[in-house]
Amino acid sequence: MPVAPVTTDPVLVWYRNDLRVHHHQPLAGAMASGHPVSAVYFLCERQWDSHDVAPLRRWYVLESLRELGEALAKLGVPLTVVDAGDFAAVPDLLKQIIQKQRIAAIYTGREYPLNEMTRDRAVAAVAADCGVPVTGYDHSVLVPPRALVTGQGTPYTVFTPYRRSWEKWLASSPPELGVTPRRIKGASSLDFNSEVIDRALNRLNIAEALCQQWQPGERAARKQLSRFAQSALGRYRQDRDFPDLAGTSLLSAALSAGTVSVAECWHLAQPAIHDPKQRDGAECWISELAWRDFYRQIMANYPKLAWGAPFRDDTRMIRWSHDKSLFQAWCEGRTGYPLVDAAQRQLLQTGWMHNRLRMVSAMFLSKHLFIDWRWGERFFMQHLMDGDFAANNGGWQWSSSTGTDAAPYFRVFSPIRQSQRFDPEGHFIRRYIPELAALDGRSIHEPWKVAQKVSDYPAPIVDHIGVKDRVSEAFRAARDILES
Ligand SMILES: Cc1cc2nc3c(=O)[nH]c(=O)nc-3n(C[C@H](O)[C@H](O)[C@H](O)COP(=O)(O)OP(=O)(O)OC[C@H]3O[C@@H](n4cnc5c(N)ncnc54)[C@H](O)[C@@H]3O)c2cc1C
Repeated sequence: MPVAPVTTDPVLVWYRNDLRVHHHQPLAGAMASGHPVSAVYFLCERQWDSHDVAPLRRWYVLESLRELGEALAKLGVPLTVVDAGDFAAVPDLLKQIIQKQRIAAIYTGREYPLNEMTRDRAVAAVAADCGVPVTGYDHSVLVPPRALVTGQGTPYTVFTPYRRSWEKWLASSPPELGVTPRRIKGASSLDFNSEVIDRALNRLNIAEALCQQWQPGERAARKQLSRFAQSALGRYRQDRDFPDLAGTSLLSAALSAGTVSVAECWHLAQPAIHDPKQRDGAECWISELAWRDFYRQIMANYPKLAWGAPFRDDTRMIRWSHDKSLFQAWCEGRTGYPLVDAAQRQLLQTGWMHNRLRMVSAMFLSKHLFIDWRWGERFFMQHLMDGDFAANNGGWQWSSSTGTDAAPYFRVFSPIRQSQRFDPEGHFIRRYIPELAALDGRSIHEPWKVAQKVSDYPAPIVDHIGVKDRVSEAFRAARDILES
């Protein structure tokens, strides 16, 4: 419950990865307080550097922040963007704001990665010193990370029982939306000062062609959500695994920067659950939102993940390869396996990769090349517009069989079979690998079998046959070391 301030001094909304005005619980809470409201965002570029945040994601956040500042200004809420550098500077800077503006209360969304939680503990101490209450909201998830526990009182580490419990929770307490904001009574429209944002954008070294493919901001994100709900949601289960189709929502960047509310996503999918034609698709999509919450609660409950540790202790001693030239070939989409290469090139050319391909590509790096999954995790973060620690770490640990509820180590996707199943005609491959454009739908999956050599396209850098045995042996050897 929001804590009611006892003076008429202003209250402060502290924005993080929740860059929107609609369905924003801290903003709604602050506006309901009856006090003047102001907002702040601490720009922490050095933190972005240490978290490997991709240039495209920085651009997305900065442009979304600009739109947010303008939207808040129309509501009569001034947003100050403070160039903080890194999280360590935030407590002192916040203290200065509290004292200068005589802030009576702070409203904010909770974040769960380790560095963010450390920052928030320091801020809570400063606010307590100043006698300012801080109200936190779990509005970046549908179910708060520590709300669900197993019969033994421990966090869930297996997805299926987690999802069952998650669905029960939501059936009895559907996520709150937060009221639609209205201009504060008597407040006039303000001008938003975007100087800090402009300077940060100028420091970014990013190809224009990359940004032109995307639209940042809350307006575009909400439009994308309603377009998806009206067109593709009902067919989501059938279409979502085919990278050549527009079968998924493309909302991951919006969800991770918070330009759209996950509660709004959930509510918008509810009518489809009651429509027999759409139910299957809607249930499947909501299950993906459950995966999102699942990995967030894993991250919140197991801080060792933030130190690069595998979730499964018995995989700690695996001797991963650190072969730089094989890694480079994977990064650049030159492995000789068309689907893997098309996936990597999609990432480099668009800053996004289809989920099926993330699994195929991550498994190829960690199983076929047996390269340390942390290298791949980092490379993804450095390029993804939707780079999100919990989902990315969860996906990489799933693919490399080191994580919670991961693929068993003896499960190795065949990059050829995956290609034949999920891009049967090779349309997706042709889009990203023009060198293979002339091949027909059968031979495009295995170009090395074609009699005439395909110019400019490499031969496979590793043989698929034998991978399973090599991986099984390495996992067994790691376990033996621990047991000896
Ligand atoms: C190796 C690997 C790395 C990944 N890295 C990221 C990442 O950095 N950021 C990220 O948001 N997702 C990541 N994912 C999950 C997933 O691939 C993307 O969320 C999805 O492809 C985004 O496309 P979409 O918005 O169209 O998703 P949709 O299929 O429309 O799904 C809706 C939303 O559910 C969430 N979601 C879907 N699948 C997953 C999943 N498996 N785990 C967690 N959340 C999920 C996302 O927020 C997504 O936007 C990763 C998966 C793998 C296997």
